Amino acid sequence: MQNIGILGGGQLGRMLLQAAANYPVTVHILENDPDCPSAHLCHQFTLGDIRDFEAVYNFGKSLDAITIEIENVNIDALEKLESEGVKVYPSPAVLKTIKNKILQKEYYKKHQIPTADYLITENRADLEKAVDFLPAVHKVGEGGYDGKGVQLLRTRDDISKGFDAPAVLEKMVPIHKEIAQMVAINDKGETALYPPVEMLFDPDLNLLDYQLCPAELSTQTLYRVEAIALAVVRNFKSAGIFAVEMFVDKNGDVLVNETAPRVHNSGHHSIEAHYSSQFDMLWRVMLGYPLGNTDPILPSIMVNIIGAEGFSGDVRYEGLEEVLKMENAFVHLYGKKQTKPGRKMGHVTILSKEKQDLLHKSNRVKRTLLPKT
Ligand code: ADP
Repeated sequence: MQNIGILGGGQLGRMLLQAAANYPVTVHILENDPDCPSAHLCHQFTLGDIRDFEAVYNFGKSLDAITIEIENVNIDALEKLESEGVKVYPSPAVLKTIKNKILQKEYYKKHQIPTADYLITENRADLEKAVDFLPAVHKVGEGGYDGKGVQLLRTRDDISKGFDAPAVLEKMVPIHKEIAQMVAINDKGETALYPPVEMLFDPDLNLLDYQLCPAELSTQTLYRVEAIALAVVRNFKSAGIFAVEMFVDKNGDVLVNETAPRVHNSGHHSIEAHYSSQFDMLWRVMLGYPLGNTDPILPSIMVNIIGAEGFSGDVRYEGLEEVLKMENAFVHLYGKKQTKPGRKMGHVTILSKEKQDLLHKSNRVKRTLLPKT
């Protein structure tokens, strides 16, 4: 039986554990919150900080393989583990590139992967000199998460909102669609692509809100998206699962926004909507099994269930029974004890052949199922 560790015990770890239950594998979690969503589902729970060298190294040294559910982990410890023969998915070198938005942009440029034009600004003074480059999006190199390290700078007056730290200043793209393409790649270099998903955002929270699968794209755009996603992933030279987030602009051009080297929010629908989910697929990759079937069983919409405005504290789910009565709606609550405005508390996937049905039901779910106190 292989022993595999996950750095982080949030909802992604929890859904990985649900899929792991089908395979001969012992799963270990490292996380500093003993009440995290994964704590009660894993075989072995270790309390510790995933950003701490000693904690990660000691956790990993007796394991066969290790993966992550968040990028903000101690990469030096993963490099040492890798050098000592522990398999790391994705490789620490990829994590280093992706964790820093400046290095990530340079990676795309180096490999001729289409991405929005950009400048690098080291500090506020640098940003002030770049005023002719606006309108643009300023993205802090390290430490941003879920939209918090991103500022839209339309005019000179917005410059004060920019970061006084190393950052990417990226041309504002006239976005037609935001999409994400999940790609799995195993140790032999074999790949499997899921159909891309199309995303809609909550403009206030800047968090992913709904997502439709498959994305509605012309055949030509779809081929372009797949080719670009494969180029991003193959050049990493690392096995694992990746979510390549892209913009389709008003001219139909496809530009890479960023890549997540792990299971991702944009693949949650795959649990019910595809034969092999993103979580199942990562176990297949790590355990050396054949890749799974990524075909959709039915089209789907995934709705994030986000903590309602004005409620912080012990969670109670308003409208849960009503949503559970809905045909082909699959509820996932992440087991978080406390809700707060904007916190991801769960998701619901809806399956249907009819787009109208998907849209109607997803709006109903969004209005009905509310994490309150
Ligand atoms: P995070 O890593 O915090 O999710 P992103 O780089 O994905 O940050 O940016 C968050 C959002 O900001 C994107 O989903 C998109 O809506 C918008 N955005 C990012 N870059 C651009 C761009 N170059 N042009 C227009 N909008 C952008």
